[in-house]
Amino acid sequence: MTHTATVHSSATITTAAESVDVFLAPPVLGMSRSSVSALHTIFDRHVETGGTWRDGWSALKAFDRKAERYGDLRYLRGLLSGSSLSKCSMAARPNGTGGVVNAQIRRTPDYAFLSGVLMCKGVWLCPLCAPKILSGRGEQIEAIQDHVDAVGATSLLVSLTLPHWASDSLDALFPVVSNAGAMFSHRAWRNVADDLDYVGVARSIETTFGANGWHPHWHGLMVFDTDLTDAQVARIRGTVQQLWSDRVAKLLGRSVVDDIAVDVRRWVNREGTRGVGHYITKLGKAWTVGQELAGGVLKDGREGSLTPGQLVRMARHGDPQAERRVREFYRVTKRAKRVYIAPALTAWAGIDDTDDDDLVATMQDAELVTELSPTVLSWIVRFGAETDVIFAGYYEGQQGIVETLRARGLRVVATTRDGPDGAVPVIELPPSPEPLE
Ligand SMILES: [Zn+2]
Repeated sequence: MTHTATVHSSATITTAAESVDVFLAPPVLGMSRSSVSALHTIFDRHVETGGTWRDGWSALKAFDRKAERYGDLRYLRGLLSGSSLSKCSMAARPNGTGGVVNAQIRRTPDYAFLSGVLMCKGVWLCPLCAPKILSGRGEQIEAIQDHVDAVGATSLLVSLTLPHWASDSLDALFPVVSNAGAMFSHRAWRNVADDLDYVGVARSIETTFGANGWHPHWHGLMVFDTDLTDAQVARIRGTVQQLWSDRVAKLLGRSVVDDIAVDVRRWVNREGTRGVGHYITKLGKAWTVGQELAGGVLKDGREGSLTPGQLVRMARHGDPQAERRVREFYRVTKRAKRVYIAPALTAWAGIDDTDDDDLVATMQDAELVTELSPTVLSWIVRFGAETDVIFAGYYEGQQGIVETLRARGLRVVATTRDGPDGAVPVIELPPSPEPLE
């Protein structure tokens, strides 16, 4: 008996299945035909190996997210050609002695990925690097909050926003927000800081685009090494409001409504719940775009606004206005720091100083499926076959990758090289050309 599961554009799925078939409409999901057939494979595999359709569905969504991220990256390589982002994940990493390391496909029980490639470490727009770096920063902020809880200190969530209109350029608004930290060197703040044992801030800059144009805003976790009273929190709120309204008046000539532009509140860590780190870095919101781009978001403004990731997706699918916004966003933000954690704060909380290199070089301990020679890597990038290769590696190992590449006409061979701990699997081109079978 055959049953059918249908994936609709709204991402609902219905099934009554022993054997499940998934129908996807490529234009709806923005995916290539080969990606769609890979989705079928994933779904079938989960059902064959005794998994439920729910397992298949979550694997399918993970694949879709990865395919979309690589699709966004390919689009951005063209749009921002010459930028470091345009070179992200295209070439193998130098080995320090004039050569390069082989790229690798690695896997864990839950997913697989490409590593050993040069990454741009772009925190604003790179669909591969930004989520990794933001996730790592989010975890550092979680660890800071854990320390706050452990020692009975106080952390305050502070948000700063600006009055803005559709006619404002991002050039005018962004530096007011991204350099807002400058106002904390003011004497009024230093007095508060000294009186209330201020340790430092972990802050993130977010920028969205909505009916009233660009909306950059500042979120920070400000930590005080004392158990603050409500009166002390009110004093902090008053000082931040004064400093922010002075800054906005001076730099933009606008007055702010204190209670709207400045929000200061205690981070309430309800037992068993975490999440302050991801609240600050807005990871989930910014980069799980999914398929909800079905228009109308900008027009009714009900959801407030679009993230840069959503603008990239719209631009990639042919929206020229979105494309203009993406270029503007890239130009204005590229030298700014998206997440900043005060060194005094990491030292106080006893957290390792992690740089962005560490954060993008993830999971070297995951199982090595195979290495890829630099030439093979360059062909995979040229084919835009990263996700197909990653998922072939996840499900079928080295041989699956070989077959995936041969199906595209590339004469690759599975071989090994000598490593310090024995043979290391490698995929490379044969030394002398062989005719295609
Ligand atoms: Zn990147």
